[in-house]
Amino acid sequence: MRGFGMRDVDDIGWLDVPRPVCGPLDAVVRPTIVAPCTSDVRVAHGGAAPRTNRVLGHEAVGIVEAVGDLVTGFRAGDVVAVPCVTPDWLAPGVQHARTVSHDAGEQGSFKFVGHKDGVMAEAFHVNQADANLARIPAGVPPEAALMATDMMPTGLHGAEVAEVGFGDTVVVVGIGPVGLMAVAGAVLRGAGRVIAVGGRPACLKLAAEYGASAVVSRRDDDWAGQVIRLAPEVDKVIVAGGDQSTLAAAVRLVRAGGIVANINFYDQAAVLQLPVVDWGLGMADKDIRGSFCLGGGVQLQRLLAMIAAGRIDPTRLITHTFEGLDRLPDAFALMEAKPDDLIKPIVYL
Ligand code: ZN
Repeated sequence: MRGFGMRDVDDIGWLDVPRPVCGPLDAVVRPTIVAPCTSDVRVAHGGAAPRTNRVLGHEAVGIVEAVGDLVTGFRAGDVVAVPCVTPDWLAPGVQHARTVSHDAGEQGSFKFVGHKDGVMAEAFHVNQADANLARIPAGVPPEAALMATDMMPTGLHGAEVAEVGFGDTVVVVGIGPVGLMAVAGAVLRGAGRVIAVGGRPACLKLAAEYGASAVVSRRDDDWAGQVIRLAPEVDKVIVAGGDQSTLAAAVRLVRAGGIVANINFYDQAAVLQLPVVDWGLGMADKDIRGSFCLGGGVQLQRLLAMIAAGRIDPTRLITHTFEGLDRLPDAFALMEAKPDDLIKPIVYL
């Protein structure tokens, strides 16, 4: 069957891959809508362990094509959303608190990217279907469910890891689609002021619509200075994009006793440097956390319930739509180019 992915680092295109087979606990899903993601682009260009002949993509909704003999909760024909993180729920890693995303080693549960072919193909494999698939409730458009497979859980997770509380002043740095969901998440968790720092004008505009009280352009070299002038005391900083200088700025911005929650993927530098004075010489209780999106069907079902209840509308992230499998390369190229009017492209298959 046809799949779109990387033949090698920097060599992106169509692949001819075997149709997936499901084990007794698994499912094979035919995707109906997929979305390319910045992490696909970075993986394709070598920003992770090198891979060859790998179908890309980890954000999909679709129709179950087949299930294994031991699957009881789903059957062929069911319309489902598939979380980007699909843990092996039998692995020891998931039995530790807070390590659902790391079932057998760091990010071990990110199967579509780390361990097997992804979703940008005629069909894809889902491990442990009963635990990793979610039904799309009535009233939730499939496009909204698609945004709940990665953008929404990753962004909301940032607000959760930052322990955003009532009245907190929160800065979100990097407001692509994930950062925008972190803005929405901070607002839902009762933040007071939310300052969004980002580059693309479309993102800055949407940040305000999701409840940011102020937006700052990261294209201004003194963006951190601007944030300090707006909010001298910042309780929480969520880093959802940028490079090592962004993390350093976040440590500088957060007050003593505050939390820096990183949900950004660092692949440009082997070593991250920490500004020691800004980190209070290591004794200011500035807590730096790095975490990864949670996974599984229950988590996704809960996010879909938020959408069904009208708490959040992630479809506002979608700026570009394409029709047909043949348009996957165009959507992917758009994600690589990141024009100013792009937030998130989707492809109907
Ligand atoms: Zn993604």
